[in-house]
Amino acid sequence: MTKVLAVLYPDPVTGYPPKYARDDIPKITHYPDGSPVPRPSSIDFKPGELLGSVSGELGLRKYLESKGVDFVVTSDKEGPDSVFEKELVDADVVISQPFWPAYLTAERIKKAKNLKLAITAGIGSDHVDLNAANDHNITVAEVTYSNSISVAEHNVMMVLSLVRDYIPAHKRIVNGGWNIADVVSRSYDLEGMKVGIHGGGRIGEATMERLKPFGVKIVYNKRHQLSPEKEKQLGATYEPDFNKMIKDIDVLVMTAPLTPETYHILNKKTISTMKRGTYIVNNARGDEANRDDIVNALNSGQLAGYAGDVWYPQPAPVDHPWRTMPHNGMTPHMSGTSLSAQARYAAGTREILEDFLDNKPIPDVYLIAQGGQLAGTGAKSYSVAKGQASPGSGKK
Ligand code: NDP
Repeated sequence: MTKVLAVLYPDPVTGYPPKYARDDIPKITHYPDGSPVPRPSSIDFKPGELLGSVSGELGLRKYLESKGVDFVVTSDKEGPDSVFEKELVDADVVISQPFWPAYLTAERIKKAKNLKLAITAGIGSDHVDLNAANDHNITVAEVTYSNSISVAEHNVMMVLSLVRDYIPAHKRIVNGGWNIADVVSRSYDLEGMKVGIHGGGRIGEATMERLKPFGVKIVYNKRHQLSPEKEKQLGATYEPDFNKMIKDIDVLVMTAPLTPETYHILNKKTISTMKRGTYIVNNARGDEANRDDIVNALNSGQLAGYAGDVWYPQPAPVDHPWRTMPHNGMTPHMSGTSLSAQARYAAGTREILEDFLDNKPIPDVYLIAQGGQLAGTGAKSYSVAKGQASPGSGKK
């Protein structure tokens, strides 16, 4: 019997299902590049429902049980006595979301003798040790594009929140205050600022496209330059050298995957070369920034603000300094798991499972690794350093 093990975040403390704010969500049929959103044979959920928590089960139970699959769902993922670690031993498929990552370390992969497929319900498979997965011929797949626009929207929200100093002003009004001088003393217009985008893939492009109407100058850094037509459309200039790009920008937005090259790319040295008062928005991966160097740069005033939803580890411990550092706009990892995004990545997870269970090839666009090497989207966007643990997989 095939066993599928899903590690999902806990249900709302107020109980499941929550009381929804809206009755429906817009029907999106295609992504901005014209490719279709996931198209499984059918779905057993109503788009807009909470699917990413344990009781939501990504809307998969009815389908998986109809296929005779043993479907185990848990949120208990840490340590050797966790349900995840115990159930992993004979699981054929593991499903995990980056918001509540089930770190698939080399040690865990070694114990998972039956494991053939690790699905990321969402985007970003850095919680899987990709070298170990390749060594054990495990296919890694994610639901490419499913929440890229969700994150781009979050990026724009956080850029504006930091530059205009929205969060402290809001807190002040909630607390009964009205001191305008206090709330404007760190509040600027975004117009005219220079924004640097690190990585210019699906999220990066959508972020540039959404920021362009604010009248900003946009510069981007990635390994391969975009086409002249695309650059014109985005109003963006290419800078091949990340270290050069960060020297004269006002805002930096991180959008590249976590790889050996991007691990701790934001550190004391690189931050010290930035203009005093630069803002950083990082909804890419927490470990692209050195934790304490960010805190120190905010305390010294070198950085004017830091916002993001990605941390290491996740969930972040209660004493993680990013919770309390000055001028932060941090949230739990949420940008890619809006109810709108969940509908797409739950459908995409089902599409991948349907292919797997029917012995059909998983589409290239969803593949990160297969047959012992990076494949499909993974071969384009990721890199692995041979013999080293992937930087986000839980082992440094
Ligand atoms: P894409 O694959 O479309 O884009 C990633 C881009 O990063 C590629 O275009 C690649 O371009 C660039 N890149 C890769 N390595 C480097 C590098 N060393 N330096 C500069 N650029 C690099 O993925 P998405 O845009 O959809 O997602 C990107 C990442 O965002 C995910 O991997 C994940 O970590 C994060 N994410 C976060 C979410 C959240 O909820 N907070 C949700 C979804 C994603 P090139 O090859 O030219 O370098």
